[in-house]
Amino acid sequence: MTAQIIDGKAISKRLRIGFRERVVKLVSQGVTPGLAVICVGDNPASKVYVGNKIKACEECGVHSFHHGFPDSASEADVLSDIRKLNADHKIHGILVQLPLPPHIDVRKILEAISVDKDVDGFHLYNVGGLVVGNTIFPPCTPYGVQLLLETTGIDVIGKNVVVVGASNIVGKPMALMLLQKEATVTVCHAKTRDLAQHTIIADILIVAAGKPGLIVPQMVKQGAIVIDVGINRLPDGRIVGDVDFEGVKKKASWITPVPGGVGPMTVTMLIENTLRSAERALHLRKEDDYQEWEAPLLKLHQPDIH
Ligand code: NAD
Repeated sequence: MTAQIIDGKAISKRLRIGFRERVVKLVSQGVTPGLAVICVGDNPASKVYVGNKIKACEECGVHSFHHGFPDSASEADVLSDIRKLNADHKIHGILVQLPLPPHIDVRKILEAISVDKDVDGFHLYNVGGLVVGNTIFPPCTPYGVQLLLETTGIDVIGKNVVVVGASNIVGKPMALMLLQKEATVTVCHAKTRDLAQHTIIADILIVAAGKPGLIVPQMVKQGAIVIDVGINRLPDGRIVGDVDFEGVKKKASWITPVPGGVGPMTVTMLIENTLRSAERALHLRKEDDYQEWEAPLLKLHQPDIH
Protein backbone atom coordinates (compact mmCIF):
# COMPACT_ATOMS: atom_id res chain seq x y z
CA MET A 1 0.00 0.00 0.00
CA THR A 2 1.15 3.54 -0.72
CA ALA A 3 -0.60 6.27 1.17
CA GLN A 4 -2.52 9.03 -0.55
CA ILE A 5 -1.14 12.45 0.20
CA ILE A 6 -3.18 15.02 2.13
CA ASP A 7 -2.06 18.14 0.31
CA GLY A 8 -2.29 20.98 2.84
CA LYS A 9 -0.91 23.45 0.34
CA ALA A 10 -3.67 22.78 -2.20
CA ILE A 11 -6.42 22.75 0.45
CA SER A 12 -5.09 26.06 1.83
CA LYS A 13 -5.08 27.58 -1.62
CA ARG A 14 -8.74 26.69 -2.14
CA LEU A 15 -9.71 28.08 1.26
CA ARG A 16 -7.84 31.32 0.62
CA ILE A 17 -9.81 31.92 -2.59
CA GLY A 18 -12.96 31.85 -0.44
CA PHE A 19 -11.30 34.23 2.03
CA ARG A 20 -10.74 36.83 -0.67
CA GLU A 21 -14.47 36.83 -1.39
CA ARG A 22 -15.21 37.37 2.30
CA VAL A 23 -12.73 40.27 2.42
CA VAL A 24 -14.42 41.94 -0.58
CA LYS A 25 -17.77 41.65 1.21
CA LEU A 26 -16.32 43.12 4.42
CA VAL A 27 -14.63 46.00 2.58
CA SER A 28 -17.90 46.81 0.81
CA GLN A 29 -19.40 47.26 4.29
CA GLY A 30 -16.58 49.56 5.39
CA VAL A 31 -14.40 47.05 7.26
CA THR A 32 -10.89 46.07 6.14
CA PRO A 33 -9.75 43.13 8.27
CA GLY A 34 -6.54 43.93 10.14
CA LEU A 35 -4.03 41.65 11.87
CA ALA A 36 -1.27 42.95 14.17
CA VAL A 37 1.78 40.74 14.56
CA ILE A 38 4.03 41.45 17.53
CA CYS A 39 7.53 40.04 17.38
CA VAL A 40 10.18 40.44 20.10
CA GLY A 41 13.84 39.76 19.29
CA ASP A 42 15.25 38.32 16.08
CA ASN A 43 14.74 34.56 16.31
CA PRO A 44 15.40 33.41 12.69
CA ALA A 45 12.58 30.80 12.73
CA SER A 46 10.12 33.40 14.07
CA LYS A 47 11.12 35.74 11.26
CA VAL A 48 10.24 33.07 8.69
CA TYR A 49 6.88 32.30 10.37
CA VAL A 50 5.98 36.01 10.66
CA GLY A 51 6.99 36.53 7.01
CA ASN A 52 4.65 33.68 5.94
CA LYS A 53 1.77 35.14 7.95
CA ILE A 54 2.23 38.61 6.49
CA LYS A 55 2.44 37.16 2.97
CA ALA A 56 -0.80 35.22 3.52
CA CYS A 57 -2.50 38.41 4.73
CA GLU A 58 -1.45 40.22 1.56
CA GLU A 59 -2.67 37.32 -0.58
CA CYS A 60 -6.14 37.45 1.02
CA GLY A 61 -6.51 41.25 1.27
CA VAL A 62 -6.07 41.43 5.06
CA HIS A 63 -4.09 44.44 6.34
CA SER A 64 -1.13 43.37 8.43
CA PHE A 65 0.71 45.54 10.94
CA HIS A 66 4.13 44.31 12.00
CA HIS A 67 5.22 45.50 15.46
CA GLY A 68 8.87 44.52 15.92
CA PHE A 69 10.56 44.96 19.33
CA PRO A 70 14.25 44.48 20.13
CA ASP A 71 15.29 41.57 22.35
CA SER A 72 15.82 44.09 25.16
CA ALA A 73 12.18 45.27 25.13
CA SER A 74 10.51 45.05 28.52
CA GLU A 75 7.31 43.21 29.39
CA ALA A 76 5.72 46.63 30.07
CA ASP A 77 6.60 47.82 26.52
CA VAL A 78 4.84 44.83 24.96
CA LEU A 79 1.84 45.06 27.32
CA SER A 80 1.42 48.74 26.50
CA ASP A 81 1.44 47.97 22.77
CA ILE A 82 -1.17 45.23 23.26
CA ARG A 83 -3.43 47.62 25.18
CA LYS A 84 -3.29 50.13 22.32
CA LEU A 85 -4.04 47.41 19.77
CA ASN A 86 -6.96 46.13 21.89
CA ALA A 87 -8.56 49.57 21.55
CA ASP A 88 -7.74 50.07 17.86
CA HIS A 89 -10.81 49.49 15.63
CA LYS A 90 -8.61 48.82 12.57
CA ILE A 91 -7.22 45.72 14.30
CA HIS A 92 -9.31 42.54 14.42
CA GLY A 93 -6.61 40.09 15.39
CA ILE A 94 -3.51 40.34 17.61
CA LEU A 95 -0.82 37.72 17.43
CA VAL A 96 2.31 37.56 19.57
CA GLN A 97 4.93 35.40 17.88
CA LEU A 98 6.36 32.82 20.29
CA PRO A 99 8.83 32.15 21.77
CA LEU A 100 9.35 35.37 23.72
CA PRO A 101 12.66 36.22 25.43
CA PRO A 102 12.91 34.60 28.89
CA HIS A 103 12.49 37.89 30.81
CA ILE A 104 8.93 38.24 29.46
CA ASP A 105 6.11 36.28 31.10
CA VAL A 106 4.32 34.60 28.17
CA ARG A 107 1.10 33.91 30.12
CA LYS A 108 0.84 37.58 31.17
CA ILE A 109 1.24 38.68 27.55
CA LEU A 110 -1.31 36.21 26.19
CA GLU A 111 -3.88 37.13 28.87
CA ALA A 112 -3.50 40.82 27.97
CA ILE A 113 -4.83 40.27 24.44
CA SER A 114 -8.55 41.04 24.21
CA VAL A 115 -10.53 37.78 23.92
CA ASP A 116 -12.30 39.36 20.93
CA LYS A 117 -8.97 39.67 19.07
CA ASP A 118 -7.27 36.47 20.27
CA VAL A 119 -6.96 34.95 16.79
CA ASP A 120 -4.25 32.51 17.92
CA GLY A 121 -6.74 31.09 20.45
CA PHE A 122 -4.22 31.07 23.32
CA HIS A 123 -6.15 33.24 25.83
CA LEU A 124 -7.44 31.28 28.84
CA TYR A 125 -11.04 32.06 27.79
CA ASN A 126 -10.54 30.46 24.39
CA VAL A 127 -8.55 27.56 25.85
CA GLY A 128 -11.35 26.97 28.39
CA GLY A 129 -13.92 27.19 25.60
CA LEU A 130 -12.31 24.15 23.98
CA VAL A 131 -13.23 22.04 26.99
CA VAL A 132 -16.94 22.71 26.51
CA GLY A 133 -16.77 22.89 22.72
CA ASN A 134 -17.62 26.52 22.01
CA THR A 135 -14.40 28.47 21.85
CA ILE A 136 -14.53 31.75 19.85
CA PHE A 137 -11.20 31.22 18.10
CA PRO A 138 -9.88 27.64 17.90
CA PRO A 139 -6.06 27.52 18.00
CA CYS A 140 -4.76 27.58 14.43
CA THR A 141 -2.67 24.39 14.16
CA PRO A 142 -5.21 21.91 15.61
CA TYR A 143 -7.98 23.76 13.77
CA GLY A 144 -5.99 23.28 10.55
CA VAL A 145 -5.57 19.55 11.26
CA GLN A 146 -9.29 19.21 11.92
CA LEU A 147 -10.04 20.88 8.61
CA LEU A 148 -7.53 18.69 6.74
CA LEU A 149 -9.33 15.60 8.06
CA GLU A 150 -12.78 16.97 7.23
CA THR A 151 -11.79 18.17 3.76
CA THR A 152 -10.32 14.74 3.01
CA GLY A 153 -13.61 13.14 4.07
CA ILE A 154 -12.13 11.40 7.11
CA ASP A 155 -14.74 10.80 9.79
CA VAL A 156 -13.32 10.73 13.33
CA ILE A 157 -16.41 9.51 15.22
CA GLY A 158 -15.51 6.46 17.30
CA LYS A 159 -12.03 6.20 15.78
CA ASN A 160 -8.92 5.56 17.87
CA VAL A 161 -6.99 8.81 17.59
CA VAL A 162 -3.54 8.94 19.15
CA VAL A 163 -1.97 12.37 19.63
CA VAL A 164 1.79 12.29 20.24
CA GLY A 165 2.75 15.54 21.99
CA ALA A 166 0.86 17.34 24.74
CA SER A 167 1.84 20.99 24.38
CA ASN A 168 -0.61 23.79 25.13
CA ILE A 169 -0.55 25.00 21.53
CA VAL A 170 -0.86 21.73 19.62
CA GLY A 171 -1.28 18.40 21.45
CA LYS A 172 -3.72 19.32 24.23
CA PRO A 173 -6.12 21.46 22.15
CA MET A 174 -5.96 18.87 19.35
CA ALA A 175 -7.02 16.15 21.77
CA LEU A 176 -9.90 18.26 23.12
CA MET A 177 -11.17 19.14 19.65
CA LEU A 178 -11.20 15.49 18.57
CA LEU A 179 -12.80 14.34 21.81
CA GLN A 180 -15.56 16.87 21.13
CA LYS A 181 -15.95 15.23 17.71
CA GLU A 182 -16.53 11.88 19.47
CA ALA A 183 -13.18 10.26 18.69
CA THR A 184 -11.56 8.01 21.29
CA VAL A 185 -8.45 10.00 22.09
CA THR A 186 -5.13 8.92 23.63
CA VAL A 187 -2.50 11.57 24.38
CA CYS A 188 1.18 10.58 24.58
CA HIS A 189 4.13 12.70 25.64
CA ALA A 190 7.83 12.54 26.45
CA LYS A 191 7.21 10.51 29.62
CA THR A 192 4.90 7.97 27.96
CA ARG A 193 6.25 4.45 28.42
CA ASP A 194 6.44 2.31 25.28
CA LEU A 195 5.10 4.85 22.78
CA ALA A 196 4.67 2.18 20.08
CA GLN A 197 2.12 0.27 22.16
CA HIS A 198 -0.14 3.34 21.86
CA THR A 199 0.62 4.44 18.30
CA ILE A 200 0.03 0.96 16.86
CA ILE A 201 -3.68 1.06 17.79
CA ALA A 202 -4.24 4.44 16.10
CA ASP A 203 -6.72 4.67 13.25
CA ILE A 204 -5.59 8.28 13.09
CA LEU A 205 -2.11 9.18 14.36
CA ILE A 206 -1.31 12.86 14.92
CA VAL A 207 2.30 13.62 15.77
CA ALA A 208 3.50 16.93 17.24
CA ALA A 209 6.62 16.19 19.26
CA GLY A 210 9.38 18.06 17.44
CA LYS A 211 11.52 14.89 17.10
CA PRO A 212 12.59 13.95 13.57
CA GLY A 213 12.20 10.25 12.80
CA LEU A 214 10.20 9.58 16.00
CA ILE A 215 7.52 7.56 14.20
CA VAL A 216 8.80 4.61 12.17
CA PRO A 217 6.71 2.08 10.18
CA GLN A 218 6.69 -0.58 12.95
CA MET A 219 4.77 1.89 15.15
CA VAL A 220 1.97 2.42 12.63
CA LYS A 221 -1.07 0.25 11.97
CA GLN A 222 -1.63 -0.86 8.37
CA GLY A 223 -4.01 1.62 6.73
CA ALA A 224 -3.73 4.29 9.44
CA ILE A 225 -4.13 7.99 8.69
CA VAL A 226 -0.98 9.87 9.70
CA ILE A 227 -0.85 13.61 10.32
CA ASP A 228 2.64 14.98 10.87
CA VAL A 229 2.64 18.37 12.62
CA GLY A 230 6.38 18.39 13.35
CA ILE A 231 8.68 20.91 11.69
CA ASN A 232 12.37 20.15 12.21
CA ARG A 233 15.40 21.58 10.45
CA LEU A 234 18.14 18.96 9.98
CA PRO A 235 21.84 19.90 10.10
CA ASP A 236 21.94 19.64 6.28
CA GLY A 237 19.21 22.31 6.08
CA ARG A 238 16.34 20.01 5.09
CA ILE A 239 12.95 20.52 6.77
CA VAL A 240 11.34 17.29 7.96
CA GLY A 241 8.49 16.27 10.24
CA ASP A 242 8.43 13.79 13.14
CA VAL A 243 7.43 10.84 10.94
CA ASP A 244 9.68 8.71 8.74
CA PHE A 245 7.66 9.76 5.69
CA GLU A 246 9.18 7.38 3.14
CA GLY A 247 8.79 4.34 5.41
CA VAL A 248 5.39 5.16 6.89
CA LYS A 249 3.76 6.08 3.58
CA LYS A 250 4.08 2.40 2.57
CA LYS A 251 1.78 1.44 5.47
CA ALA A 252 -0.58 4.38 5.90
CA SER A 253 -3.73 5.03 3.86
CA TRP A 254 -3.34 8.83 4.07
CA ILE A 255 -0.37 10.92 5.14
CA THR A 256 0.58 14.60 5.30
CA PRO A 257 3.95 15.66 3.88
CA VAL A 258 6.37 18.07 5.56
CA PRO A 259 6.60 20.70 4.24
CA GLY A 260 3.25 21.19 2.52
CA GLY A 261 0.93 19.47 5.00
CA VAL A 262 -0.13 21.05 8.29
CA GLY A 263 2.16 24.13 8.01
CA PRO A 264 0.20 26.03 5.34
CA MET A 265 -3.07 25.18 7.13
CA THR A 266 -1.87 26.84 10.35
CA VAL A 267 -1.38 30.14 8.53
CA THR A 268 -4.67 29.71 6.67
CA MET A 269 -6.60 29.20 9.91
CA LEU A 270 -5.01 32.36 11.31
CA ILE A 271 -6.52 34.27 8.41
CA GLU A 272 -9.84 32.45 8.96
CA ASN A 273 -9.85 33.54 12.61
CA THR A 274 -8.98 37.13 11.64
CA LEU A 275 -11.82 37.26 9.11
CA ARG A 276 -14.17 35.72 11.62
CA SER A 277 -13.16 38.41 14.11
CA ALA A 278 -13.76 41.20 11.56
CA GLU A 279 -17.15 39.70 10.62
CA ARG A 280 -18.02 39.40 14.27
CA ALA A 281 -17.01 43.03 14.92
CA LEU A 282 -19.16 44.19 12.01
CA HIS A 283 -22.09 42.16 13.22
CA LEU A 284 -21.69 43.50 16.77
CA ARG A 285 -21.65 47.01 15.37
CA LYS A 286 -24.88 46.37 13.48
CA GLU A 287 -26.73 44.48 16.17
CA ASP A 288 -26.42 44.34 19.91
CA ASP A 289 -27.05 40.61 19.97
CA TYR A 290 -24.70 38.29 18.08
CA GLN A 291 -25.92 35.05 19.65
CA GLU A 292 -27.33 33.70 16.41
CA TRP A 293 -24.37 34.60 14.27
CA GLU A 294 -21.68 32.21 13.09
CA ALA A 295 -18.96 32.73 10.50
CA PRO A 296 -19.30 30.51 7.41
CA LEU A 297 -16.33 28.20 7.98
CA LEU A 298 -16.85 27.81 11.69
CA LYS A 299 -20.49 26.96 11.18
CA LEU A 300 -19.38 23.99 9.14
CA HIS A 301 -16.51 22.87 11.26
CA GLN A 302 -17.08 23.82 14.88
CA PRO A 303 -17.36 20.69 17.00
CA ASP A 304 -20.83 19.72 18.20
CA ILE A 305 -21.71 20.72 21.72
CA HIS A 306 -23.00 17.99 24.02
P1 NAD B 1 6.64 21.42 22.45
O1 NAD B 1 8.11 21.22 22.58
O2 NAD B 1 5.99 22.52 23.19
O3 NAD B 1 5.92 20.07 22.88
C1 NAD B 1 6.37 18.83 22.42
C2 NAD B 1 5.51 17.73 23.01
O4 NAD B 1 6.00 16.49 22.52
C3 NAD B 1 5.60 17.65 24.54
O5 NAD B 1 4.33 17.37 25.09
C4 NAD B 1 6.55 16.48 24.79
O6 NAD B 1 6.26 15.81 26.00
C5 NAD B 1 6.26 15.61 23.58
N1 NAD B 1 7.41 14.76 23.22
C6 NAD B 1 8.70 15.15 23.06
N2 NAD B 1 9.46 14.08 22.79
C7 NAD B 1 8.64 12.99 22.75
C8 NAD B 1 8.85 11.63 22.53
N3 NAD B 1 10.06 11.12 22.31
N4 NAD B 1 7.78 10.81 22.59
C9 NAD B 1 6.54 11.29 22.84
N5 NAD B 1 6.29 12.60 23.06
C10 NAD B 1 7.33 13.44 23.01
O7 NAD B 1 6.36 21.52 20.90
P2 NAD B 1 5.10 22.11 20.08
O8 NAD B 1 5.14 23.58 20.12
O9 NAD B 1 3.86 21.39 20.45
O10 NAD B 1 5.53 21.66 18.61
C11 NAD B 1 5.71 20.30 18.29
C12 NAD B 1 6.24 20.20 16.87
O11 NAD B 1 5.25 20.74 15.99
C13 NAD B 1 7.50 21.01 16.58
O12 NAD B 1 8.26 20.33 15.61
C14 NAD B 1 6.98 22.31 16.02
O13 NAD B 1 7.91 22.95 15.19
C15 NAD B 1 5.81 21.81 15.24
N6 NAD B 1 4.76 22.80 15.03
C16 NAD B 1 4.28 22.86 13.77
C17 NAD B 1 3.27 23.73 13.49
C18 NAD B 1 2.74 23.75 12.10
O14 NAD B 1 2.13 24.72 11.71
N7 NAD B 1 2.93 22.68 11.32
C19 NAD B 1 2.73 24.55 14.48
C20 NAD B 1 3.23 24.44 15.78
C21 NAD B 1 4.23 23.54 16.04
